[in-house]
Amino acid sequence: MTDGVKVHTSIATRVLLGPGARHQLADEVERLGATVVLFVAGPHQTEADELAEALGERLAVRFGRPLVHTPVAVTDEVMDLVAAAGGVDAVVTLGGGSAVGLGKAVSARTGIPQIAIPTTYAGSEVTPVLGETADGVKRTRKDLAFQPGTVVYDPELTLTMPVGLTLTSALNALAHAVEGLWDTEASPVTLAYATEAADGILTSLPQVLARPDDVAARGELQGAAWLAGSVLATARMGLHHQLAHVLGGAYDLPHAELHAMLLAHVMRFNLLAAPRAQGRLARIAGGDPVAAVSRLARRFEGPKTLRELGVPADGLRSIAERVVADPYPNPRALDVESVHEILAQAW
Ligand code: NAD
Repeated sequence: MTDGVKVHTSIATRVLLGPGARHQLADEVERLGATVVLFVAGPHQTEADELAEALGERLAVRFGRPLVHTPVAVTDEVMDLVAAAGGVDAVVTLGGGSAVGLGKAVSARTGIPQIAIPTTYAGSEVTPVLGETADGVKRTRKDLAFQPGTVVYDPELTLTMPVGLTLTSALNALAHAVEGLWDTEASPVTLAYATEAADGILTSLPQVLARPDDVAARGELQGAAWLAGSVLATARMGLHHQLAHVLGGAYDLPHAELHAMLLAHVMRFNLLAAPRAQGRLARIAGGDPVAAVSRLARRFEGPKTLRELGVPADGLRSIAERVVADPYPNPRALDVESVHEILAQAW
């Protein structure tokens, strides 16, 4: 590709957004012309029964145990249920990135359309990326066909998120936006999304933490998380996501908590080499963005360090070596010492 030429691909997605949007599910299924539907909903979804009822006679298979990192064995199990039901012509997912991931995996095998109803801020519903695990190894594939064609954002479905998940999931979303801001090849559209996403998250997250039942603030946060997910879809993720992938894979760590604890440390390192991101984030934060993100991360009442997550100190160097051996695109050059130092701070 010619140096300096940016490429931006937009994927056609129909998005419904707003309190009560879930009540339009039956209409959206109708719009697809689907008549036999697979419904995936995580165990914490109190609205799952209501949505199953709305699907009525179209509901052919219901599955309630999606798992993080989309194990292939779980997809196999669902495919058996689908085969026993004589096949399905659409999949509806209700839940976080784990439920959405299972819907993508089924769609990847069958080609059926997806309706995603996200209940966290992870953003997978607006990316063409599918990560799956088999025999302890996570493999990621990207195909525009994997991205759900319909997304229903209903902030009322996020009211049940515990405060801890709200905080870590929102910081996970913020990490997508921050990495978009320092991606040197980000298009103007990606930068606009990333800036608006970071602004929306840093403004609405403190409001949501203060008033977790505030549907309007939850809606603002969810809209910002949508934009952040769109950044994940189009920007190149750098050191932050690489550390999360390598650490998460090596020690089987919780996705959102890991992102939340790493972000400020990576920002402290990278922002020195990323003046555009530094300038925009400082304007949004009204001061030092690293301090703003650290303050938010410190409010988490669960594990706040890699040490508390169970990562051994003597494992950090090999993580740093693996990252430096095959680095993701990053605004600041890496060596084993500097990556080890970031990890040691997070430890
Ligand atoms: P998750 O979907 O595993 O959910 C975390 C926990 O919160 C689960 O126990 C779930 O049941 C519960 N939960 C979800 N929504 C809730 C709600 N509204 N109220 C109460 N409890 C709720 O976690 P996640 O962080 O959303 O997603 C992580 C997974 O998604 C990982 O596998 C990650 O790799 C993947 N992911 C993929 C992409 C992509 O682009 N492919 C992007 C982001 C995340």
